[in-house]
Amino acid sequence: MISFLSFLKQMEESTIFKPVNCEKRFDFEIIDGIQLHGIIDRIDLLNHTFRIIDYKSSDQKLSESMIKTGTQLQLLSYAMAEAKETGMAPAGTYYFSMKQSPAEDPAGKAQIKGFSENDGIREPAHMKELMESRRTLKGWAWSPIEDDPDSYIRFFSPNKMLDFKEVSEAVEALYQQFRDGILSGQIQVDPTQNACGFCDYAAVCRNHKPAKKAEHRVMADTKFKYQKAAVKKEDSNR
Ligand code: SF4
Repeated sequence: MISFLSFLKQMEESTIFKPVNCEKRFDFEIIDGIQLHGIIDRIDLLNHTFRIIDYKSSDQKLSESMIKTGTQLQLLSYAMAEAKETGMAPAGTYYFSMKQSPAEDPAGKAQIKGFSENDGIREPAHMKELMESRRTLKGWAWSPIEDDPDSYIRFFSPNKMLDFKEVSEAVEALYQQFRDGILSGQIQVDPTQNACGFCDYAAVCRNHKPAKKAEHRVMADTKFKYQKAAVKKEDSNR
């Protein structure tokens, strides 16, 4: 927790986004007939764009494959709700894990001439730096405005960002499939892998079929498009 808070402090000092909301409740009709209720952990603003940060106790990242199977819609649904309510464009959607990812540092290097020891490995300052360097926000950017992509935004490349409209349409198509499936009576017990992890009824469940692999329900043969854009470095004094 100390390491997490230390990283958070470092991030607050270097980011030009301003936190404007935490634990924000929303109530949003994402498509006809599906009303979402939820709480967004944190919303930051920069010039009429927003980014959403979701704090997690486990290590998580956004996965194109999980989104297409319909098993990871939470963060994107938050962004769609906020975009609809405020009329602003999203700049990014990120997970921020409180869990420390494992960090590796070799004890030394074996070479033809012998073994050279990594002198710094036992230094507490070196270990601290190593551990903190493993902490990043993990997620996707939707806008070229980012303040310091190298320091704490993992998976963000200045030349790569996803198209929010395209991904939102895929998410809407998934909700439509769920709605249409339920309305047409498709409610058979047929869980996919990991679906039962948090079920309150697992102790009395009579399903003994092996969990099946989740399949892509949208855009099965195409990948989400990346857009190319030069990063606009914003004025940090603004
Ligand atoms: S444990 Fe049983 S009731 Fe619970 S989600 Fe899995 S299949 Fe459904």
